[in-house]
Amino acid sequence: MKINDVQLGQVDRQIKRLLNVDNFYGKKLREAGISGVSSVEEFEGLPFSQKQDLRDAYPLGLMAVPEEEIVRIHSSSGTTGTPVIIPYTAKDVDDWAEMFKRCYEFAGITAKDRIQITPGYGLWTAGIGFQNGAEKLGAMVVPMGPGNTNKQIQMMMDMKSTVITATSSYALLLAEEIEKRGVKDRVHLKKGVIGSERWGKKIRDRISKELGIELYDIYGLTEIYGPGIGISCKHDTGMHIWDDYVYLEIIDPKTGKNVPDGEFGEIVLTTLVKEGAPLIRYRTHDISRIIPGECPCGSKFPRIDIISGRSDDMIKIKGVNVFPKQIEEVLECFPELSSEYQIRLSHLDGKDTMRIYVETNGSVNFQEMANRIAAAVKSKIGFTPLVKIVEIGILPRSEKKTKRVVDERYD
Ligand code: ZN
Repeated sequence: MKINDVQLGQVDRQIKRLLNVDNFYGKKLREAGISGVSSVEEFEGLPFSQKQDLRDAYPLGLMAVPEEEIVRIHSSSGTTGTPVIIPYTAKDVDDWAEMFKRCYEFAGITAKDRIQITPGYGLWTAGIGFQNGAEKLGAMVVPMGPGNTNKQIQMMMDMKSTVITATSSYALLLAEEIEKRGVKDRVHLKKGVIGSERWGKKIRDRISKELGIELYDIYGLTEIYGPGIGISCKHDTGMHIWDDYVYLEIIDPKTGKNVPDGEFGEIVLTTLVKEGAPLIRYRTHDISRIIPGECPCGSKFPRIDIISGRSDDMIKIKGVNVFPKQIEEVLECFPELSSEYQIRLSHLDGKDTMRIYVETNGSVNFQEMANRIAAAVKSKIGFTPLVKIVEIGILPRSEKKTKRVVDERYD
């Protein structure tokens, strides 16, 4: 997939506008001696921008229009250092709601639906994004925000909510609570729109089964509008990205070069019509791939796979780029295994080695199982790991993010 002429023209106009602005990008482009883009090659030569650049522009260094045109700011969570502030014009807010409305439509949600919103409201883009899109669609919004599970379930029953929007972990928690309380027959949910954190097939199937709903994955990040720049359709073959608003690239995170369609790499996004804080070739560090070919739904919007991790998680072994997600997908084919695993990389006798630890119960032949897993990894990814089978409960577990990859090669 390459940038088309319309998109190229939009980026060119954006660059020409930014060159005359005294902000982070104006300065960056002037320093790089860029005056515009007129070809794919020129576009692919534009410098990337990074989260750190956006942090350095704190608080309002990204603002690319006179202040009187800004109607709102949002901020990405500042859990690690200075937050990023994104200013929005009225048109940006409206464009975002338009994109979000399209997301709901792709999920088959209509003005007759009642949408319960559980992501948070405030500085970050979650709750309000879901809300503005739903109002543009004409649906009835039940704006709950996160937490207070008692009230959440009560409202869900009383208001007969038909759509739940949530993170995968909160959707799972609600599913379990509904099950525990035995109130499933009083819940009217049909669909779930789930924020695109990385989640495995096992969790997904559980939410879908316990709530009896169809699930849709929505994508986006605060730096680029927020959630709602793409969603999966009913064929569940990846997330369609609205490339009339945002241009999508997948690059090799090590070399910065674009990878062929179908190959995994880092998502890089360029806004095409954003006014308040346009971004050019912004590195998201999210890992995915462009799904080649056309979706059975007939939509021409390009598709990306579910986010499979962060580029910081990428492993390079024996010249092959590997993401933990790819290993996870192989392991998911073995129902005898628990959901836990650990990958350890070491350098022994001049050679890189990958050991994969997995858990199962005592009823299987450990050696035979290990051989089968090693063969499956070899056939899917191209090299043979050492597989170690352990009893269930041996591998470390954590409430937050479990560390799946331990690289001992450069210690
Ligand atoms: Zn589709």
